[in-house]
Parts: sequence; C-alpha cells; structure tokens
Amino acid sequence: MPTFQTVRGMRDLLAEEAEAMTFVMDKARETAQLYGYREVITPVIEPYELLSAKSGEEIRQRMFTFKDLGNRTVALRPEFTSSVARLVTTSLKNEPKPLRTFSVGSVYRYDEPQRGRYREFYQSDFELIGTSNPEADAEIILLTDRLMRAVGLRNYAFKLGHVGVIRGILTQENVDEKTQNAILQRMDKKEFEEAFKLVESEECLSTLRGSLELKSDDVFKTVERIKSHVEGYCKAAESAEDLKNILRLVTEGGCPVQTVEPTFARGLEYYTGMIFEVYIPELDIALGGGGRYDKLIELFGGEPTPATGVAHGLDRIVLAMQTQKTTPTTERKKRVAVVPINEALKGEALRISQMLRNAGISAELEVMGRKMNKALEDADRRKMDYAVIVGERELKQSAVVVRDLAKREQAVVEIAKLSKTIIG
Ligand code: AMP
Repeated sequence: MPTFQTVRGMRDLLAEEAEAMTFVMDKARETAQLYGYREVITPVIEPYELLSAKSGEEIRQRMFTFKDLGNRTVALRPEFTSSVARLVTTSLKNEPKPLRTFSVGSVYRYDEPQRGRYREFYQSDFELIGTSNPEADAEIILLTDRLMRAVGLRNYAFKLGHVGVIRGILTQENVDEKTQNAILQRMDKKEFEEAFKLVESEECLSTLRGSLELKSDDVFKTVERIKSHVEGYCKAAESAEDLKNILRLVTEGGCPVQTVEPTFARGLEYYTGMIFEVYIPELDIALGGGGRYDKLIELFGGEPTPATGVAHGLDRIVLAMQTQKTTPTTERKKRVAVVPINEALKGEALRISQMLRNAGISAELEVMGRKMNKALEDADRRKMDYAVIVGERELKQSAVVVRDLAKREQAVVEIAKLSKTIIG
C-alpha cells in the first residue's frame, strides 16, 4: 500500500493548530452570545442550485460539485449565507424580525492553495435579517471589531464600500445586471481597464473613471466626495448617504475604519449595499468580510427581506495571531500523569484519575504498562505538570506520591487533599 497524503488544499490541524482554531471558534461563539445571535447548524452538502443561485461566477466555478447516488446535483457549501437564506424562507419563515443567526464550521472552495488560502477552511458567520437600517450594518462591523479584539489582534483596520454606488450609476445608464456583475467582479480584482471595457456610454465611463480618484486619507471626506461625484445618479447618491450613516455609527462605536473605497467590490454577487473587509497591516489577505444583501431571500422564494452579514476567515485569524505573536489568554489546565507502581494497582490509579477529572484536572492514566522511570520520562517529554504515583505503601495511609515535574520535587499527599494540592 502507498502511504496516504491529504488531498491537495486539505489540511490536518494537529494539536496546537486545532487548539488555536477552537480558541477562535470559542471567541466567535462568545461574541454571538453577547450580541444575541443564536447558533444554527446547517448541512455541509446543499443542492447545487441553492449554492449557485447568487454566489457569483467566481465562486460557482470553484465549488466542489458532484452527483450523489440518487443522481442529485449537490455541492459542498462554499459559504453559509445561502443556507441561512434557505432557512429564512422555510423553517424560520415565521420567526419575528430581526432574526440574528450564527454559524461556524468548514466551507469548501477550489481555490489555488497558498498561505492563508485553502480548499477547506473555517468560517464564523453572523447574519442579521429583517432590517435595512444602517445600525444593522454597523452592528455587523462592530461585532467583527469585538471578535478581532477578543482574539488579541492589534492594529487591524476596516475597509468599507457600498456596491449601491457603482450599481446605482450602472442601473441609471441601463447596464443590465449580468454586465454589472461582470464589471464588479473585475473591479474586485482591481482590473479596472478590463471592467471599463464593458461600459458603452461615455458619460458613464467618465463617472466610473472619476470614482477612482475620490479616495482621501480622511474617510468622511471620501464619502463626501463620493456624494458630490454621483450627484446626478439618484440611487448612487442614496447609497453614498447610507454609507455615511453607517460610517458615523461605526466610528461612534469606537471601531477603526481606515479606508472607504468607492470602487471596492467583493466576489459574492448577492451584495446590494454596504460591503466591508478587515485586515491587519502584516498580511495582505482579508481576515473577514461581509455586507448587505437585500434581494437574496426574495430570490429564494421568500418575502422581500433585507439582510446584512459577515463571514470571518478563522484560519486567517489564526495566521494573524501567529504573525502578531498574540498568545491566547485562556487559562491552561494542569496536566497530570497517573502512574501505578505495579499491575495490581491499576484499578486504584484509574479511580484516582477519575477523581482528578471530576475536579477539572486533566489526568492521563499510564496505559502502556511501562516501568516507573519510563513513564516519568514520557510525562516530562510531554511537558506535563505533575505525576501522581500510586504505590502500596502510601495507599495504606490513603495517600499517593505527587511529583512536580518542573521542580523535580516530590511529596506524599493525602488522596483527600490531592486535587486541592494540584490546583494550588
Ligand atoms: P467570503 O465568504 O468570500 O466573503 O470570505 C470571507 C472570509 O473567508 C475572507 O475574508 C477570508 O478571511 C476567508 N476566506 C475566503 N477564501 C478563503 C480560502 N480559500 N482559504 C482561507 N480563508 C478564506
């Protein structure tokens, strides 16, 4: 047999990496709870039709799509929003609004693997459904801010935009939606000349070109510039006003917005309003992103329902934490090796292990039947805190030997006082 490797783009997360990932997941869950987002667990496999409906050409081409044995065309979810939109038109149809949902788990995209880009990766996803007010968009950005802070990241900054600005211009110039999507997709990749080739009207072209020049260091000034630049375009001007309101609320909430980009676009097609991403200076890949999608639920057969949301790239947040050398602040549980002196004391050792676990101490019982020296060497190598040595002589006095592996000291401790001694 050959030795097996993971499939290209798939990774094993071993102990430390898995711990870092669950640390971030826990923080995301904590954030969800603080903001009142209730968790929903949806399937990894969904109908291809659902996932492809509005995710955009870019992601559609990168989906893991296949036929199941019942000849249904299905795909691995490339994101959570479509699944949540499905819920909103079915099981959660009659839920009072606003509806706040939280999901966390793996998603799949056939991206070209590189640092921070994998084919299986993890996201936490927050959706706020049922309102088009700017405070909803602000909430989504602010909870992302909280998560970034909760995992210990520094100097992160937000980039904001509004697809309503460019779409507003294009709609008024009678550019059809498909072409609009193609233009936004190229803008997302900063291929502006390619994007402009798809525009016929000279006036429209000059407005679009002009929008590339609007950025300034002051985010509020940029918004004002956008507003006056699109004055003749009614929907675009409304969008600029909406962006200004969101920006004001987010700034009041103490969140660092570094740039407002008039031509900012995102890969997913369903966005209709504010869009944003968050970065740290050391990495040029986004740690998370989201925006408003007011048409998706209707497209899935539901009532017209405005919504906004965000997906955080958890693998990239872990990468950012490593890059900034932030150490998780969770209290490390004491780890104890429990070693019986001989075969006959296995049962006693097991009983003591259970007692330690009941007190919240991590206990690893010697299960390899090794001699004391070997077992202690192994506990040392694994950087355990203590070894509890179970011997006949001490047991007669209802006691065991506790060895502090770092200090290399040991003492006889009554079993009744064991947990307390270890916890310290
Ligand atoms: P999106 O669903 O495209 O808005 O992506 C949300 C976040 O997921 C991004 O900001 C990234 O942090 C993360 N992400 C997207 N694609 C990948 C990938 N191939 N590998 C790892 N993380 C990703």
